[in-house]
Amino acid sequence: MAYNCVVLAKQVPDTANITGKAMKEDGTVNRAALPAIFNPEDLNALEMALQVKERYGGQVTVVTMGPPRAADLLRDALTRGADRVILLTDKRFAGSDTLATSYALKCAVEKTGAYDLVFCGRQAIDGDTAQVGPQTAEKLGIPQITYAETIDSLGDGQIVATRALPLGRETVRCTLPCLLTVVGTANRPRPPSVRRAITFKLAATPLDYPSLLERWPEFGTEEALDRYLSERGLKIPVWTADDIDAEEGRLGLAGSPTKVLKVDYVVLGGTETKAFDASQEGVSALIHELVSEYIL
Ligand SMILES: Cc1cc2nc3c(=O)[nH]c(=O)nc-3n(C[C@H](O)[C@H](O)[C@H](O)COP(=O)(O)OP(=O)(O)OC[C@H]3O[C@@H](n4cnc5c(N)ncnc54)[C@H](O)[C@@H]3O)c2cc1C
Repeated sequence: MAYNCVVLAKQVPDTANITGKAMKEDGTVNRAALPAIFNPEDLNALEMALQVKERYGGQVTVVTMGPPRAADLLRDALTRGADRVILLTDKRFAGSDTLATSYALKCAVEKTGAYDLVFCGRQAIDGDTAQVGPQTAEKLGIPQITYAETIDSLGDGQIVATRALPLGRETVRCTLPCLLTVVGTANRPRPPSVRRAITFKLAATPLDYPSLLERWPEFGTEEALDRYLSERGLKIPVWTADDIDAEEGRLGLAGSPTKVLKVDYVVLGGTETKAFDASQEGVSALIHELVSEYIL
């Protein structure tokens, strides 16, 4: 039996490779100093979905909600093996907390058509709440397996999966459709395929058409460009709040009870340094220090 898989993936600032000042004076994130990347655990989620497709057949659809530049994540997903990608972008989504984000994602998942499995990362490295997956499952009215590390079996409308928990592993069975939040130890995400990278280099959303027409005036009109990209599977569809039949009051700031009043940034600096000789006495002094400070 083939499985239709939907992967929810978020583009996040790369907090591990800061190329400038990470925070602005007003306490907001300086996104210009942080390159945008595929949320790491969402790559594990995508890999798990691709493995389901390879083993059982089916289709992998990747959905992201974000600004127009989140289309880069979708191009990346295509080069790794996704069959279909959707960019959810609309000014009305701006300022969404997890409640509004999961509502928009739920509407989008339903709009993708019949699905068997929804995959999320366990957590995004920017918002860090780990709430979006569970909230999306709740709104879809389907069971969820959080902290999923392996899919042990799929069949007869059921899934058996193992969860990686802080104190051990737990194997659970549940009915399909179901949502999994996937941990970073689940697998090693495959790199982009060179062949697919060449194929999808030109993949674009309609929002890119004006700039593409400046580069390729020979296409003449947006309609002609749209036809060219669509026929070759290179058009990345853009869905707005209207396309997913979302209630406006449940989106963006209007649908977000969370108010972030203030963000403080903390600079950690060493206050004291001690040097120890590379000698028997130095090592003894170091161990004594670690024991007396309760570090060892
Ligand atoms: C400083 C700060 C504090 C915040 N505090 C709160 C708060 O206390 N409560 C609150 O509700 N919100 C808060 N937010 C907003 C929160 O970051 C956003 O709602 C965010 O878009 C979703 O939450 P997350 O990043 O924690 O995702 P998580 O819940 O950590 O993400 C889990 C998974 O859900 C999926 N996912 C998440 N977002 C998307 C997306 N846009 N598109 C596709 N898939 C997605 C991915 O698979 C991801 O791995 C805060 C934001 C900031 C900047």
